[in-house]
Amino acid sequence: MKNKENDFVKEIPHKAENISEWYTSVILKGKLADYSPVRGCMVIRPYGYEIWENIQNYLNKKFRETGHKNGYFPMFIPQSFLTKEAEHVEGFAPQVALVTKGGGEDLTEPLVVRPTSESIICSMYAKWIKSYRDLPLKINQWCNVVRWEKTTRLFLRSMEFLWQEGHTVHRTAKEAEEHTERMLEVYREFAENFLALPVLTGRKTEGEKFAGADHTYTIEALMPDGQALQSGTSHNLGQHFAKAFDIKFLDDDNVEKYPYQTSFGVSTRIMGALIMMHGDDRGLAFPPKVAPTQIVIVPIFYGNKELVMDKAIELKKKLDEHFRVEIDDRDEYKPGWKFNEWEMKGVPMRIEIGPKDIEKNQITVSPRIGEGKIVLPLDNPVEKIDELLNDIQKRFFDRAKSYFDSHIFDASSVDDVLNHQKEGRKGFYKTLWCGDEACAEKFGDLTSTTPRCISKTEQGEGKCCCCGKEAHSYLYFARAY
Ligand SMILES: [Zn+2]
Repeated sequence: MKNKENDFVKEIPHKAENISEWYTSVILKGKLADYSPVRGCMVIRPYGYEIWENIQNYLNKKFRETGHKNGYFPMFIPQSFLTKEAEHVEGFAPQVALVTKGGGEDLTEPLVVRPTSESIICSMYAKWIKSYRDLPLKINQWCNVVRWEKTTRLFLRSMEFLWQEGHTVHRTAKEAEEHTERMLEVYREFAENFLALPVLTGRKTEGEKFAGADHTYTIEALMPDGQALQSGTSHNLGQHFAKAFDIKFLDDDNVEKYPYQTSFGVSTRIMGALIMMHGDDRGLAFPPKVAPTQIVIVPIFYGNKELVMDKAIELKKKLDEHFRVEIDDRDEYKPGWKFNEWEMKGVPMRIEIGPKDIEKNQITVSPRIGEGKIVLPLDNPVEKIDELLNDIQKRFFDRAKSYFDSHIFDASSVDDVLNHQKEGRKGFYKTLWCGDEACAEKFGDLTSTTPRCISKTEQGEGKCCCCGKEAHSYLYFARAY
């Protein structure tokens, strides 16, 4: 029997000492992803891909509830399409990959490998939309996109990544704005309730908005090193793309008009936030709702192995209908070794069942985070386990939320931020801002941060953190991934 005490756990660097090494180590050891032979690209392994599938299932439900259907558009875009919207091309040109040859011959027009799909989708919308009766049109697609990044990190920044991009068309400006905000709320709810990641929500400054959007809303998570991570964006595109791609509809007053558009996206990047926020020195830790495996059953083989296995399999059958369950029946490892391995893989709940438990008709349950083992009756455990999983989910959120709340620091001047940084207070710096773009940019430069978002819900009164003029908006700054 192998009994090397949790060697894989010993090899994980301490999270608090070197979060960057810790992060890479838990991803590789947890078999979530690996480096590809092509620099900057990432292989997502099955255990990691299951997380993505859980995210897809959850969001697809929300997208259907908000009136979207899934479709698919090609990954190649004629280069000229990208240049039709001036800000869009300027924003994306530096990161674009181009195909210039195909089948051994030079192409008459190079093809862009999509960095995002507004242009190709708008070219089709121009063909499909004729009348106000065709609106609203709401399509989402799950796909890969390519952006030629110089420095890359697993999940957080890779040259090719997976995402969903929603693209909608509306009759009025009001309807488009309402939809943009509705999808931001879908993302906030998804981050907080499903991934247990507290986020700030708000609008991006002009300098930080999506290239080609009228304005952009964002959800911003805060990582354990005090850096912000943009985790999802919802753009109000106004009529910019409709005009560039000549999308027009005949309204009920018989006048031809340009519609209003939105787009919104969440990518595999948010898995980086999930891993970084919840894991610890023992490895990965996943909130139950998104965890690939929610429960692992470890049979304890002392005495009558056959009886223990029978009971364990019977239990798994009961739980399978409701939860994602694994059973670890490997002979060659001792229970302690298995416990460590499943903890390292971040499974939120472990159930032990041994001869003594069977005698007492019980099982022993251990949560991945928080204290204490809980004993449950073997016969009808589903309801109680469901309650416990909800409780574990809440523990994950509460722990993250308490970190989040205690890392928002008020700042009324550049010196305030520099002082916070000097004292080791890293996180969001909350400032009052006059609304002038130049102030946001200058303040960011002087504090080595970037403006993350303008609060949608909070209003204040006082002086701008930068110019001292009258200010009413709260603008959050942070260093960011
Ligand atoms: Zn100002």
